[in-house]
Amino acid sequence: MSTTEEKSAIVIKPRIRGFICITSHPTGCAAHVQEQIDYVQKQGLIQGTPKKVLVIGASTGYGLASRITAAFAGKADTIGVFFEKPSENGKPATAGWYNSIAFEKAAKAAGLYAKNINGDAFSDGVKEQAIQAIKEMGGKVDLVVYSLASPVRSHPKSGTVFRSVLKPVGSVFTNKTLDTDKSIVKNISIEPANEQEMSDTVEVMGGDDWRLWIDALKKADALADGVVTVAYSYIGPEVTWPIYRDGTIGRAKKDVEIAAKDITNELAGVHGKAYVSINKALVTQASSAIPVVPLYISLLYKVMKESKSHEGCIEQMYRLFATQLYNGNRPHLDSEGRIRIDDWEMDPATQSKVQALWDKVTTENLNEISDFEGYKTEFLKLFGFGLSGVDYDKEVDPAI
Ligand code: NAD
Repeated sequence: MSTTEEKSAIVIKPRIRGFICITSHPTGCAAHVQEQIDYVQKQGLIQGTPKKVLVIGASTGYGLASRITAAFAGKADTIGVFFEKPSENGKPATAGWYNSIAFEKAAKAAGLYAKNINGDAFSDGVKEQAIQAIKEMGGKVDLVVYSLASPVRSHPKSGTVFRSVLKPVGSVFTNKTLDTDKSIVKNISIEPANEQEMSDTVEVMGGDDWRLWIDALKKADALADGVVTVAYSYIGPEVTWPIYRDGTIGRAKKDVEIAAKDITNELAGVHGKAYVSINKALVTQASSAIPVVPLYISLLYKVMKESKSHEGCIEQMYRLFATQLYNGNRPHLDSEGRIRIDDWEMDPATQSKVQALWDKVTTENLNEISDFEGYKTEFLKLFGFGLSGVDYDKEVDPAI
């Protein structure tokens, strides 16, 4: 290690601000990625998997778990697109930055092609870079995972900047929520979104950008025959509907479902299919920002861990690939044509237990009747903290 490197090494501890942790740990993030790789390898290879995969939103949460599954359960070459910050002025990079470096290293060590593209996936420039990388990787992709979660989108043609909001539609929503910083259960009232906020949220989180990606890839002849593309969505139980399914984000997700049908039509020439997979509610950087959801997740984890049906992102994505998309299986679609990998979450027995806990949860009984401890542990892991075998008192160089 050079003198400069020695000087730049620091001890990194979690620093939480509201629903975000502003520090992350390079060694811890690498251990978190490795934990997911180990899980997938333990489950074994999945048959009939795609061999060239593009993941948009690949650095954290569901996108990272999809990329790990494709690579380590399917031996796929992967390109990952994400928007992360490298280390600057001695400060840690974002967790997704460290995750992606760790993934790339592990994939290359396993003899797989892995290319990271850090930039704005909504821009034409990044789409162009991805197309270039696909050509370098061997020409065409047979799976495109769309797993973006973003609060803002600059439109590639008009340059207009749209911001998404997490608000109910039509009327004020009042319910319990969890202040994860202060560990208190309190009531929250959220004013409904106006027309502008609704349409702006659809611009950011709706299906438009997914369509643009597929258009660009198709025009560049970068889609293999039989290509599959999948985007992720959430439905959840009634307590969350006003803020999720029936709220501004739900409108955007409806638009994603419409896009799936349009894209499937567009892909007819290459015998391709577009799916929306409804995934389970899990602690990720995106979900921790949604009011009400962290309380629901804490109760859900309690019930699902007790019934041994709990899954994290990697278990969900492995199951999606192994039981729905590949391994000789066809997706089991619901009446709206969606994949339901949230089936264990939405199991009626699970939901009625969660509802009973929801009715009685207070600040006083939070730790006893919910898995808030598990929530906090998972939250810290997103930033590389709390991983076993990592010495958090040791200085590390944040600039990798
Ligand atoms: P996440 O915050 O962990 O990941 C978001 C990813 O998007 C990251 O890789 C980030 O770098 C990338 N990203 C954000 N803005 C970008 C931009 N402009 N350009 C390039 N990359 C950008 O989120 P997540 O929870 O894994 O969510 C992924 C998808 O899964 C979303 O569509 C979300 O609605 C859906 N989903 C999430 C949950 C949940 O409970 N977390 C449940 C069901 C479905």
